[in-house]
Amino acid sequence: MITLKDALKLPKEEIKNLRDELRKKIDENKALGAYVEQLTGEAINEYGDGVPLLIKDNIQVKGWSVTSASKILQGYVAPYNATVIDNLLKVGLSPFGRANMDEFAMGSSTETSFYGRTRNPRNPSCVPGGSSGGSAAAVAGGFAIAALGSDTGGSIRQPAAFCGCVGLKPTYGRVSRYGLASYSSSLDQIGPITQNVEDCAILFDAIAGFDPKDSTSFEREYQKSAPKLDANRKFKIAVIENYIDQTNPDVAKALWESVKTLEKEGHTIVRKMMGDCAHHVATYYVLATAEASANYSRYDGIRYGFRGEGKDLKEIYSSTRSQGFGDEVKRRLLLGAFVLSSGYYEAYYRKAQKTRKLISDEFATIHKECDIIFAPVSPTVAFEFDSGKTPLEMYLSDIFTISVNLAGLPAISLPIGFGAGGLPVGAQLIAKPFDEQAIFDAALNLEKALK
Ligand code: GLN
Repeated sequence: MITLKDALKLPKEEIKNLRDELRKKIDENKALGAYVEQLTGEAINEYGDGVPLLIKDNIQVKGWSVTSASKILQGYVAPYNATVIDNLLKVGLSPFGRANMDEFAMGSSTETSFYGRTRNPRNPSCVPGGSSGGSAAAVAGGFAIAALGSDTGGSIRQPAAFCGCVGLKPTYGRVSRYGLASYSSSLDQIGPITQNVEDCAILFDAIAGFDPKDSTSFEREYQKSAPKLDANRKFKIAVIENYIDQTNPDVAKALWESVKTLEKEGHTIVRKMMGDCAHHVATYYVLATAEASANYSRYDGIRYGFRGEGKDLKEIYSSTRSQGFGDEVKRRLLLGAFVLSSGYYEAYYRKAQKTRKLISDEFATIHKECDIIFAPVSPTVAFEFDSGKTPLEMYLSDIFTISVNLAGLPAISLPIGFGAGGLPVGAQLIAKPFDEQAIFDAALNLEKALK
């Protein structure tokens, strides 16, 4: 598939051909279930006439259905554009199709979608990761030029690693959340999923910047990264040894080889240890579910999409939510309501807030000494469908990514090699807040060196 960089150079009439070619490729890859329209039998949604991009089904495109891959939002049509969509349109990019995802972005395998699963293009009996599995599968499979995803605990980085493409979780506040269906408002960020590092910088430049419509948007002028890309910059990189040691041997091997490559490229490598990431998982699942339980109270059958039967308001609420939400979403809403309930608030929610601060401080201490932190994305390569994982085991897929959301930091996932079954392995580069430039420069260097 043509890169985003090259597609942006095409004259208008060729973009039309590109869209036709893309439509054909999407059809050929129907069985992978990456595009929601392919799963529902609808034609591909199009908006504008720029370079076509795939958009995760939780980002609003005016006039399109937007459902977060849930039954409860069936029939809901976006009344306005998310700010990121307006930003794309300004630079000659345009939404083209909705990407499949885990219901309400809760998941690590894109198995919980109302529309059915997405398959990994590298091996269709394996999951593509999640929750932005549709976005990553289409980009890695060569039937999307680039895509937008969202990342609350790893949902851009982990599927990018499982499918073998590049994904960036921006600094919290760097990209507007206006028009993104909130999961956990203090953790969510929209970000790019692309074929390579340069495209990632280009797409990030298109969507980043202050937005007065988002009260958590950071009011600092954004300097574009792509024009300043420099693969020759040298960094001090902290390698998190105890995290690499916790990954499967095939993943660890690929990661250590990358560390060697970075050293050869002239970066200064420092070996570091970080605290037990089991705490990160616990902290995340208390805070994310608490925020979700507050955010999802709006899905009441009155304002959006699907409505259940009932003789009074309470019955309508109850039947809408019982039938409209899938099991994983219900599990999390129950947990979230529980940790916020009186008597448990101090024991769980407050404690998780304190732990969040400690996690953030731990990163800040390393970042005082080092520009970049090198860590795994996931402990394994993509796993098979119906792996029999319990919810808790599934939550461990994000053990190395969720702390980055808790600390609000920017991080990229880029492919560095292959592990068991010839499936891709990703590495994570984590920078200081708002230093996406360092991430792109270091990632570009590693990408080139590994070629
Ligand atoms: N897999 C994690 C979860 O299930 C992260 C999801 C996300 O980043 N949206 O919550």
